[in-house]
Amino acid sequence: MGSKPKKIQSALKVQQGIEQPSSVNPQLKKELTGRKTPVFSIDEYLEGIIKGNRTILSKAITLIESALPEHQAIAQQIIARCLPYAGNSIRIGITGVPGVGKSTFIEALGKNLCNAGNKLAVLAIDPSSQRSKGSILGDKTRMEALSTDANAFIRPSPSAGSLGGVARKTRETIILCEAAGFNIIFVETVGVGQSETAVHAMVDFFLLLMLGNAGDELQGIKRGIMEMADAIAINKADGDNKKMASLAMTQYKNALHLFPPTESGWIPEVATCSAYTHEGVENIWEIIEKYQLFTKANDYFYQKRQQQAKQIMFEMIDERLKEKFYHNKAILNLIPKLQQAILNNEISPYIAAQKLIDSYTEK
Ligand code: GDP
Repeated sequence: MGSKPKKIQSALKVQQGIEQPSSVNPQLKKELTGRKTPVFSIDEYLEGIIKGNRTILSKAITLIESALPEHQAIAQQIIARCLPYAGNSIRIGITGVPGVGKSTFIEALGKNLCNAGNKLAVLAIDPSSQRSKGSILGDKTRMEALSTDANAFIRPSPSAGSLGGVARKTRETIILCEAAGFNIIFVETVGVGQSETAVHAMVDFFLLLMLGNAGDELQGIKRGIMEMADAIAINKADGDNKKMASLAMTQYKNALHLFPPTESGWIPEVATCSAYTHEGVENIWEIIEKYQLFTKANDYFYQKRQQQAKQIMFEMIDERLKEKFYHNKAILNLIPKLQQAILNNEISPYIAAQKLIDSYTEK
């Protein structure tokens, strides 16, 4: 499928017996990256990504995020080539209301994980990011220590679009990050009730961060989101908050008992932690590892991934069909007329919808 790697003119002659350097010359490519059209071949992208070249990984993610059809076409080829190298990670979704301490937590845990030799990618889903000017991970002061760690790769949310579109881009970015050797993927979500389901559908483990000193209502956490959680971490369990956090832990433990059993057989855990003092943060990681062992042993881990992969196909079909339908000229002409006819009580919405579909399928 992929074309042959382009030969790069170089004065550098490699002596026999010495390993040939990468065909991707980072310096040369850097100079070319200002151009609109991608300058790498698919092979070069693949090679760069697999070698963990961050510049190339970032460039490829930019193609995934691009709205240009020609960029999308290249992105899809890169993804297809990366797929055989992907999958080898634990994907962790992290949610909680703004201010609960998600980025502080990710930084605290992430630093430990990187120090232990893991490669960590931190991605985000924030469908509102254009409106709020990149509220999530866009702020450079966030996760400062992690962003300079050689083992960490932090990527802000793809800019606003439909939640489905943003979620697709993040899912595809996960594939590329895994191919680049990142073995732990965090997907952070804004926690305002919209994007949690999308994140839940693309991760292995879903962590809900909560506060000890505020009720569920105050935290805007819907029951459905609590039901999705594999663990609840009561953050900011430090100083005067400690007692409240312990109390909240007991309450949430009791609340979780009332929920229906999970499909995985895993019993969601509740624990306290402080992203600030780091107390309890390691314990959260131990819970995640325990979950991984448990669900791999009973095969749920793999079944869930397969289920997610199948689901993506149907989502893509829905998305593509809708896209085609609503960009169809005849449909675009017909919609306002039928809308008016509905308002005039000349036609029922049901018949109007049928007329549109008939008009579309006749072509
Ligand atoms: P996010 O919006 O959920 O990502 O929250 P941030 O990580 O930006 O944290 C919001 C605020 O809470 C910041 O001022 C943090 O310093 C503070 N914070 C985060 N975690 C803790 C914690 O465990 N204890 C205390 N006391 N403050 C924390």
